[in-house]
Amino acid sequence: MKKIPITKIDPDVFHLRGIAEGSFSKCLESPCGRSKGDGCCWWGVSVDRESYGLMKKHQKRLDAFLPVPLDECFEGTNDDPEFLGGGAIDTKVRKDHWCALHHTDKRGCALVDFVFKNGLPHRMIPSACRIYPLTWERGKLKVAKTIYKNCHCLLDQHTVDESFFESHRKELEDIFAIDPQAIERAKKEAVAGGPKHKALVSVKRATPGAALPRDEQPQQSDVKKTVEVARP
Ligand code: SF4
Ligand code: SF4
Repeated sequence: MKKIPITKIDPDVFHLRGIAEGSFSKCLESPCGRSKGDGCCWWGVSVDRESYGLMKKHQKRLDAFLPVPLDECFEGTNDDPEFLGGGAIDTKVRKDHWCALHHTDKRGCALVDFVFKNGLPHRMIPSACRIYPLTWERGKLKVAKTIYKNCHCLLDQHTVDESFFESHRKELEDIFAIDPQAIERAKKEAVAGGPKHKALVSVKRATPGAALPRDEQPQQSDVKKTVEVARP
């Protein structure tokens, strides 16, 4: 199974606190992003070519589960080799501002629900969603520039002492071929007090339910494309 090579890791990855039960486990309890929750599902996401292929394989059942048919959820493609399958396809952003794969009648991602409920491979979920707020670029694993206020990784009640890297290690090792020396180097740098991500320094423990400051809210002009979705 092919993986994305990682040769460098930002020490911030080891400053970020872990989530006890891993990816998505506390998302529905976190009032992240615009106080409605699901902050990182705004803007849509680039879906690994391999993930898209798995969605197509299960399309018949997925179409009955998603808010809109699968074929109406995507737009441009690219051949970026740093995605599983050697390329990606972008999800559309709906008129209600969420990723086309997000539920329309409740919180959470319909695709993630479908995968978890049916015990399907996590590779069907875009890599970017499985590891947020970690991300990667040119062989480097790092913390995303923006961590949404009230993201579970910033909330005392949802985090544990082990690092986010350790709590998400299974997901990370499924997606990436990580150089073990890069892990050791980054750990040492983190212990030595390496540079710390702005959100990890400046965010006081967030108050659940607090609204996102205006400058953290997406602007209409930033919304890529909209697709009509009939609310149930
Ligand atoms: S912003 Fe954080 S808590 Fe909110 S949905 Fe994304 S990963 Fe989950
Ligand atoms: S695919 Fe799901 S988890 Fe990822 S951005 Fe879209 S709605 Fe959110």
